[in-house]
Amino acid sequence: MTDHPTSHVPAELPGSIQHYIGGELVDSADGGTFDVLDPVTDEVYAKAAAGRAADVDRAVAAARAAFTDGPWPRMLPRERSRILHRVADIVESRDARLAELESFDSGLPITQALGQARRAAENFRFFADLVVAQTDDAFKVPGRQLNYVNRKPIGVAGLITPWNTPFMLESWKLGPALATGNTVVLKPAEFTPLSASLWAGIFAEAGLPQGVFNLVNGLGEEAGDALVKHPDVPLISFTGESRTGETIFANAAPHLKGLSMELGGKSPAVVFADADLDAAIDATIFGVFSLNGERCTAGSRILVERAVYDEFVERYAAQAKRVVVGLPHDPATEVGALVHPEHHAKVMSYIEIGKGEGRLVAGGGRPEGFPAGNYVAPTVFADVPPTARIFQEEIFGPVVAITPFDTDEEALALANGVRYGLAAYVWTNDLRRAHTFSQAIEAGMVWLNSNNVRDLRTPFGGVKASGLGHEGGYRSIDFYTHQQAVHVTLGAAHHPTFGKGA
Ligand code: NAD
Repeated sequence: MTDHPTSHVPAELPGSIQHYIGGELVDSADGGTFDVLDPVTDEVYAKAAAGRAADVDRAVAAARAAFTDGPWPRMLPRERSRILHRVADIVESRDARLAELESFDSGLPITQALGQARRAAENFRFFADLVVAQTDDAFKVPGRQLNYVNRKPIGVAGLITPWNTPFMLESWKLGPALATGNTVVLKPAEFTPLSASLWAGIFAEAGLPQGVFNLVNGLGEEAGDALVKHPDVPLISFTGESRTGETIFANAAPHLKGLSMELGGKSPAVVFADADLDAAIDATIFGVFSLNGERCTAGSRILVERAVYDEFVERYAAQAKRVVVGLPHDPATEVGALVHPEHHAKVMSYIEIGKGEGRLVAGGGRPEGFPAGNYVAPTVFADVPPTARIFQEEIFGPVVAITPFDTDEEALALANGVRYGLAAYVWTNDLRRAHTFSQAIEAGMVWLNSNNVRDLRTPFGGVKASGLGHEGGYRSIDFYTHQQAVHVTLGAAHHPTFGKGA
């Protein structure tokens, strides 16, 4: 047997990970912890505080006090913006360390973890700039009324995040929630709590007032659940699986909370015969195998027009076999280790299911040289019918299903024939088809002849089981604020008079 791969263990790796509440690092009230694993060896490398309702209560109380009595919601946007730019500066200056820790904790390839660290800084810069440029509506009724929007932060925002690109996804919620003057309680994913623990130091150094940012680690069913059900948390921004989203939706209902739901996906990449095939193959390989395939917008179904189908499948499979699987810290690695043995088992079980549903043309199990750890070879199934589970269900790993089509109508029916609707990628050089087809796809976001390249101003979100509500640009500002309408009467009050009858 080949030697087991070993991890590069970052220097000064903490052995324990605490909560951060009211400006202090603290353990759980009941002293509970959970194990955090190294995805390459599946060995426990740290114990994290397992938050429960009592810890969430403490964190919400600290956030609530910072909201009602502290300076943060009352500061000028420019003052908040300066602090958030300092956060971005600090994140940028520590990008290598952040990437090292993230890659170690999540199994993401180091080069991709570095990109995500920089994106996290960019998210802070973007929202720091946006709140300074923010204008609000005024509506004039000549001679009668001046009506205007008084925009204000809402209170304590509960932020619940998944384990794929954890630090970046946390920044995507923290940036706008804080920029708009809210205070927050973050509940990061239990598989990957390491990078989240860095926020405490970063925010303190940047000058964020104490109590504005609070962090409670723990299991979703305990800490996450307590946050969702807490009466003093009027907003929940959640990113994760659709099924978890459904549970959270139900649990938040009695409190009528504001909800933003960024959920799962099974996004199609549709390749027409007139497309630039070289570009389409490169992009669709990257689209499903980058971030280990643990990517919400992964193009995990590729629909290919029959005229180029055989050529596409052959070239795609050959290239997929050349994707470099390796240790997460190695800069040459293109696919690292999946996040956790439970998730690894789930992805492997889908591969076994796929063997009975499609034609395996690449991968199909553990890659050579990696007998242990959460490794999966980039796996490609061709001729996958739309009834297949690997066509319908989110696998969230380096596994792709390829399906042929003959007409535009068939392609559209295949693209839309799943419960998800997050992203779609369309490859064609026909201008009219590009737009009409893209507009007909049931997806929150479409990329034409491109990979997922984000413009931070555009709406981000899914339709159907992929989510509810949109974030991105001003939509995030809207989610994290109340727009109070103030109506000012000009001149004489204009209303019918009651109670003056004879
Ligand atoms: P998950 O739903 O298992 O967990 C997400 C978070 O929710 C974790 O912090 C977890 O602890 C918490 N949680 C779990 N149960 C909870 C409950 N009952 N109450 C409150 N919180 C609870 O998702 P995951 O496996 O961590 O992440 C992968 C999923 O996230 C995939 O489905 C992926 O598509 C999705 N995702 C979506 C987007 C997007 O923007 N649409 C982005 C990234 C990931």
